[in-house]
Amino acid sequence: MVSTQDGLSGSSSAPQPLQIARRLESFKTTIFTRMSILAAEYGAINLGQGFPNFDGPEFLKEAAIQAIRDGKNQYARGCGVPDLNLAIAERFKKDSGLVVDPEKEVTVTTGCTEAIAATMLGLINPGEEVILFSPFYDAYQASLSMADAVVKCIPLRPPNFSVPIDELQSIVSKNTRAIFINTPHNPTGKMFTLDELKAIASLCIKHDVLVFSDEVYHKLAFEMDHISIASLPGMYDRTVTFNSLGKTFSLTGWKIGWAIAPPHLTWGIRQAHSFLTFSSTTPMQHAAAAALRAPDSFYEELKRDYLAKKVILEEGLKAVGFTVYPSSGTFFIVVDHTPFGLENDVAFCEYLIKDVGVAAIPATAFYLNPEHGKNLVRFTFCKDEDTLRNAVERMKEKLLKKKKTAH
Ligand code: GLN
Repeated sequence: MVSTQDGLSGSSSAPQPLQIARRLESFKTTIFTRMSILAAEYGAINLGQGFPNFDGPEFLKEAAIQAIRDGKNQYARGCGVPDLNLAIAERFKKDSGLVVDPEKEVTVTTGCTEAIAATMLGLINPGEEVILFSPFYDAYQASLSMADAVVKCIPLRPPNFSVPIDELQSIVSKNTRAIFINTPHNPTGKMFTLDELKAIASLCIKHDVLVFSDEVYHKLAFEMDHISIASLPGMYDRTVTFNSLGKTFSLTGWKIGWAIAPPHLTWGIRQAHSFLTFSSTTPMQHAAAAALRAPDSFYEELKRDYLAKKVILEEGLKAVGFTVYPSSGTFFIVVDHTPFGLENDVAFCEYLIKDVGVAAIPATAFYLNPEHGKNLVRFTFCKDEDTLRNAVERMKEKLLKKKKTAH
């Protein structure tokens, strides 16, 4: 900043080198942000960043408005407004069978992303190892880096993205502090099976390792029932379960998330949360409590609607000529783009936005080693049916021809 003659400050004309601490210097602007900007610039249909293009339910918007009118506008209790902590505990009991103490084992955060950051900062010491499965959601690596943790990575490979238990076993050591799982899994839609979870659990118990489990897509489980690893024998005491409101209630901008963990782990999470955000937005927490008490019919309808969307996109992508990998949950589908002859995922996504008018996410953003993701691209189907159909039409029009010329 420089002072101008009239006393106002403004940017100096000479560009300054960007500054960033080492712990974040290897990260770029997130791929979701970059692709959404590019999609807007080219008028592409955005099947990249995972946010619904339809609104959340009226009853929740009303509940939030009511909470604001009722004066629920000052700082909330740091660990969450009591009624939301209770609603989260009740929901978790219905979903996983586990009975948790809403006061001592539930921490409300500003989205699941903050719950993850608070957990890494509150429970991981510098130099401790955390194992991720690649592809992984970008925020995991960034929050581990902010905690000065060491990331170890185990690849999940197409077509089934199943857990290579032997490889996992060989990398767990006395330096391993935690294994980070995500089920249903972003970006692949894979759901961890009971056998996989049992194998992970037995490794964790044997080596005294924690599990961090991101379950934000748990209500978008299409092919099998969602299982919380915390519910496996011996696991609750060593598991932090993350969840949030955004995906289930189509309100990704509300940024209400939470971490469920036994009191001895909740302590570190809450300490970090206290100094990251202190508390999350008060009126939205009141509305969130109402959300979690939605009747079963809400969840049934959500799943039915999403299944119809999934079919449109999945069938469409197959008809266009992609190799489509099976997706059991989430609102994502991963495909192999190589039939269209572009050199890698980024080149393909740029072509897709600029020449076809559809945005997707290049999968290398989810890998430590870009070689592993260069053939893959992620599409989301959290859009209304017409939008999905239009995107498929655009792809059919341009890509079918391209496939013919590529061979
Ligand atoms: N979770 C969203 C996705 O995977 C992205 C959210 C974000 O942009 N940070 O698409």
